[in-house]
Formats: sequence, structure tokens, C-alpha cells
Amino acid sequence: MSEPSVFTRILQGEIPAEILAETERVFVIRDIAPQAPVHLLVIPKTPEYRDVVSLAAHAPDLLAEMVEVAGKAAAEHADGDFRLVFNSGAGAGQTVFHVHAHVLAGDLSEGSVGA
Ligand code: 5GP
Repeated sequence: MSEPSVFTRILQGEIPAEILAETERVFVIRDIAPQAPVHLLVIPKTPEYRDVVSLAAHAPDLLAEMVEVAGKAAAEHADGDFRLVFNSGAGAGQTVFHVHAHVLAGDLSEGSVGA
């Protein structure tokens, strides 16, 4: 069996992080290395999907729930406008293979803020 992901370890309380919001299936934390004034991560509690393609294929309802939670978090922590980024594959910058959405919000006007 592979090692638990950093996000599973956060969920289990092994790595400290403030859980900003959660539902039965999804939780929200701040990114430890923010790339925007507001940079949150929306993460399914299950580690079984490595990327958004796998998630969409197997659990589209969970993907929809992540988008809904992202919208609510952007409204709570910024003005409601946000960019949603899923890095998919190491070549695209994905480092944690437990699917997660980056919610980038606040002033994104300085060009190509990404995650
Ligand atoms: P990826 O590069 O896979 O798209 O995104 C992983 C994200 O997780 C990165 O933006 C990284 O800063 C964030 N991250 C990695 N380890 C931790 C941690 O221990 N705590 C928090 N809050 N974020 C983390």
C-alpha cells in the first residue's frame, strides 16, 4: 500500500492545518505556499482519485461538490470571484497525487497567477 498523502495526514490530524470548511466528503485548507492573495485547497476526504480526470470519470458528483464548496469558500474568503486550477500530472506541476482543486482569489490582476 502506498503512503498516505499529505492531505490524508492533515485530515487525520498528523500534520497541522486549520480546516476552514468541510462537508461529509470534502474539506478546505489554506495552501502552505500561496500563489495568490487567497489560495485555498478543496480536497475530497477520499484519497482514491489521483487527478481530476479520474475523479470526473468515476465520481462526477464529488467533483460537482468540490466546485460548489470552492464557490462558497471564495465568497467567504474573497469577493466570490475565483480561479479554479487542477494540476494534472507531474509535468503540469502536480506534486500531491490525491486530487485537489486550487482556489485562487483576491486581486489576480497582475497577470498569469497560477498554481
Ligand atoms: P499540486 O502541486 O499537487 O497541484 O498542489 C499541492 C499543493 O499542496 C501545493 O500548492 C503545496 O503548496 C500544498 N501543500 C503541500 N504540503 C502542504 C501542507 O503540509 N500543508 C498545506 N496547507 N499545503 C500543502
